[in-house]
Amino acid sequence: MFTMATPLRSNSTTTKGPTHMGGVSAKGYNVNMAWSGKMMGDPEYLAAFHHLLLPIASEFNPELVLVSCGLDAAKDDPLGRYHVSPVGYAHMTHLLRGLAGGKMVVAHEGGYNLKSISESMAAIVSVLLGDPLPCLPDKMVPNDDAVDCIRAVVSAQIPYWKSLRIFGSVGAKEMQYFDNSPDFEEPESHDQTQESRDRSGDVGGASGGNEDIGDSLLSNLREMAIGETMMFAVTPKSDCEHLTTLSPKPLPPDIASHRCEECNEEREPWVCLQCHHVYCGRYVNGHMLGHSGGSAHPLAISLADISVWCFLCDSYIHHPSLTPAKSSVHLSKFGEHPSSGQQH
Ligand SMILES: [Zn+2]
Ligand SMILES: [Zn+2]
Ligand SMILES: [Zn+2]
Repeated sequence: MFTMATPLRSNSTTTKGPTHMGGVSAKGYNVNMAWSGKMMGDPEYLAAFHHLLLPIASEFNPELVLVSCGLDAAKDDPLGRYHVSPVGYAHMTHLLRGLAGGKMVVAHEGGYNLKSISESMAAIVSVLLGDPLPCLPDKMVPNDDAVDCIRAVVSAQIPYWKSLRIFGSVGAKEMQYFDNSPDFEEPESHDQTQESRDRSGDVGGASGGNEDIGDSLLSNLREMAIGETMMFAVTPKSDCEHLTTLSPKPLPPDIASHRCEECNEEREPWVCLQCHHVYCGRYVNGHMLGHSGGSAHPLAISLADISVWCFLCDSYIHHPSLTPAKSSVHLSKFGEHPSSGQQH
């Protein structure tokens, strides 16, 4: 069992901070994405999903996802005073569908503005029914408090999760970073970094024998914490000049059961949309990244969450010409077509 939380205002007395990570024998199995500082919205929540929650959840590879869905972070909630939009909730739900083969229970839990709750729940249910995702604004940048909060949690969790190493050199390009503002040169950041390094070092040493967590990890962490890059909330592009490479052939009907052709791993498989070969993603062994680099085939569809990534655009792509491939994967995976409704 593994839990993740995104409580509002971690400095309140009812929620705990990033180092609230589980008991002695279960360290890392509790991930507390504790927010503090400014009010958070879609860019901040999606950045936390892409850079922290999804990498860890994919690595954990759950059999079932239970969502206790408090909507007090919704826009116009009088108590939460955050501003997550219905579209933001739709995207978070969509991202979670990529886990556990889509087996997910969403239980509505809270929120104090009936209109916000209704609109957010409608957006969430629409995604669960397989409706196409509504579009988010193009480049959303999380605020600096959120980036600090995410970094603090990554710093605490990095000894326990290999997937967080993507914050180092490997992931810089793939995860869409951009040049940093001068804020990260402040002394406070350096203090936090030192503290994080000490803590990571201690934990790594104490757990004994986890050779994977070595110098490279700590230097990746340092790079992440004081480096010259900052994170984006990952949002899809609505067009891509490489869509002309799509194969006109339909995907095989049993495509959802395919595994990586290189390592036979069943987690996070992607299908090349030019040659239909299947390889694993970046949280596993990165074989699709290698295939795309070697063959110059740019587009791949995830069998986990049915999203399409373009390696040349370095971005997720939403475009009507991808609908046949998405429908085929949906049919193969869930035994039915996505619910009727206008397709993107
Ligand atoms: Zn593989
Ligand atoms: Zn290919
Ligand atoms: Zn492209």
